[in-house]
Amino acid sequence: MTENKKNEGEKKKGIDLVVRSAIDRLVSAEQDAAAMASAGAVPAAAGRRTKTAAASTAEPVRQQSRKPRQRKPKAAESKETAGSPVVAPTEVVAPEAKTVAAAKTQPPAGKKRGRPKKNATAATSMASAAVQPARAVSRKANVRAYSGKPADEQLPTQSFHSNFLALHHDAAPSKPHAAAAASKKGDREYKLKIIPLGGLGEVGKNMTLIQYADDIIVVDGGVSFPENDMFGVDLVIPDYSYLIENKDKVRAFFLTHGHEDHIGAMPYILNDIQAPVYSAPLTLGLLRGKLNEHRINADLRQVAPREEVTAGLFRVEFVRLTHSIPDTMGLAVTTPVGVILLISDFKMDLSPIDGKQMDFGRISALGEKGVLLLMSDSTNAEREGFTGSERSVGANLERIFFNAPGRIIVTTFASHVHRVQQVMQAAFKAGRKVAVCGRGMQNMTAIAAAMGYLEVPDKTLVDIERIQDMPADQTVILTTGSQGEMMAGLTRMAAGEHKQVQIREGDTVVISATPIPGNDRMVSRTVDNLFRRGAYVYYERAQHIHVSGHASQEELKLLLNLAKPRYFMPIHGEHHMLQKHAMLAQQVGMAAENTIVMENGQVLELARRSYRATRSVESGRVFVDGLGVGDVGATVLRERRQLSEGGVIVVSMTYSHERGRGRSPVPKLVAGPDILTRGFIFEKEYEHIIGEMKEKVVALSTPERLADSNINDLRNQIRSQLSKFVIERTGRRPVIMVAVSVM
Ligand SMILES: [Zn+2]
Ligand SMILES: [Zn+2]
Repeated sequence: MTENKKNEGEKKKGIDLVVRSAIDRLVSAEQDAAAMASAGAVPAAAGRRTKTAAASTAEPVRQQSRKPRQRKPKAAESKETAGSPVVAPTEVVAPEAKTVAAAKTQPPAGKKRGRPKKNATAATSMASAAVQPARAVSRKANVRAYSGKPADEQLPTQSFHSNFLALHHDAAPSKPHAAAAASKKGDREYKLKIIPLGGLGEVGKNMTLIQYADDIIVVDGGVSFPENDMFGVDLVIPDYSYLIENKDKVRAFFLTHGHEDHIGAMPYILNDIQAPVYSAPLTLGLLRGKLNEHRINADLRQVAPREEVTAGLFRVEFVRLTHSIPDTMGLAVTTPVGVILLISDFKMDLSPIDGKQMDFGRISALGEKGVLLLMSDSTNAEREGFTGSERSVGANLERIFFNAPGRIIVTTFASHVHRVQQVMQAAFKAGRKVAVCGRGMQNMTAIAAAMGYLEVPDKTLVDIERIQDMPADQTVILTTGSQGEMMAGLTRMAAGEHKQVQIREGDTVVISATPIPGNDRMVSRTVDNLFRRGAYVYYERAQHIHVSGHASQEELKLLLNLAKPRYFMPIHGEHHMLQKHAMLAQQVGMAAENTIVMENGQVLELARRSYRATRSVESGRVFVDGLGVGDVGATVLRERRQLSEGGVIVVSMTYSHERGRGRSPVPKLVAGPDILTRGFIFEKEYEHIIGEMKEKVVALSTPERLADSNINDLRNQIRSQLSKFVIERTGRRPVIMVAVSVM
């Protein structure tokens, strides 16, 4: 153990004492509070089926009835965490420090010494968990800046918190369960870890690990799409090195739903780590398609809502949700410390198209028993009110379908099965036939129809070739391209590049989606092109041809009210969305210090009545380009950016190194220098510049510099001289490559 680590270990022990004494105070202050639901504290309700991951995994999986492990001896423990610096609550922490580790306790309601009252109104960010009064003031200023309202108007008061705490503790079971009592000692242990590897500070590549001792379960493994400056990158997946390092601990994967930002990275992950994957039929159906493309075998296990799976020490129950794809489920994970309710993408659609309601009853029952931590979707945390029901779109589509003078072309997300269903229904009612165009949409409708998620009205579908000969006002073409994607159907139709469909005067185009942030430009270019070709385009939100799949503020608050968690961690959103969601939780009545805003890679450690962030694990973005995974990094991207901005100049020359009869060889140029450029200037018109560059290269290629030992030096000289020259004459910064060969 190095001296440094030793010091950290000592420091940690000291802090542990601080933390423990704080917890002790807390425990004695809260006489009435029984422990949270513990392992085995939530009996399986009658009628719920139970599955065991152990059934066919190679490695025997421990049953949940196993007792929590005994606390390790101190020496071992300090070794275990020696590399993890722990910061005392009073230490100032730079907000941008990603590796920050903050010890944090939940002080008793009446004992908030040294913490100004206003402080409690700000969201607690783990990145600055050790909030100092001065920081609190500036944070509050931030709140005001982006809410547009004085913070006091928006945020709850201190007394509101206390009310909530009292209410919450009343809701806790009055008779502590045996396991709960036994683990009172374990209260001071932080063995339960929540490790988000993606989805925080971004909308995309969602992935969360839940770990207790030697058991890890993984929730989702999604992708995000490359930003404009990621040249040539096809996909971005989470950095899951931590999972690879701990692959023998991975008990199971759980998928919430079939969207790309939740399952897109699974083929890569399952290539490295083998464990059963549990999810609903449609999600597994979509995943299977991906795995086949990648030629990967995996153990996929279908589950239904309210079904339970035991994986290591965890018991995982599926809870039905409503979202913009069928078969979306949340997870209630019973851990030895308490229940974690993970509600990823959802909205509260009270009149869902398939009639399958969100399971409010189950969520509320879990809330009554006690939820330790709620994690929920922040995508629309900044949008007021309720998100409209998917059903509200149907009537508007029908109105358009009845009134449009000619052909209708509709686009939406291929995976939005309910929207596709409504398009089919509206077409049927308006006496129109539907042709599905484009591979993505055809595949998706085929899968959804085969699995019974999509009901195609009788004789409504026709082939794209046949629909061309039908009267225009009896036809609908359903295609992809709602995001202006380069290769998608609508984009190519708008550009006049589609083989089968040409946009004509009198066509009506319905873009039944809103652009994902970043796609606005491309969508608006497509809309322009469509108008130019004489089509009428419905694309604005005001026309009610689209509703979001994510919950707005009132729904988020309702979920918080139902689940009544002790701690709340907003997920699935950019940082500002997470902060806004944390503030919503405070409006509902949660104490600010119980709302936890984290960054990807941070580790949240939970005990029954306290939490802390101890350290960070490796996390970040891994780029997928063609067949390569992770071989494109920052350096390659920088080079690609440079190439795209300034083009490239290649200088090549050959010199001879023959030893003559004399004693010392005299190297001389025998071919070149040749200069080729791409993306730099049009060579024919700038021959003089190319000529001058050649002269410079020849002048630099003196016999001394051509000597073997100086070749590198020569290359550098040529590069820097040409670079200077080119900037002087053209103001551009191309990539310059010098190739020197010897004959
Ligand atoms: Zn999502
Ligand atoms: Zn989703």
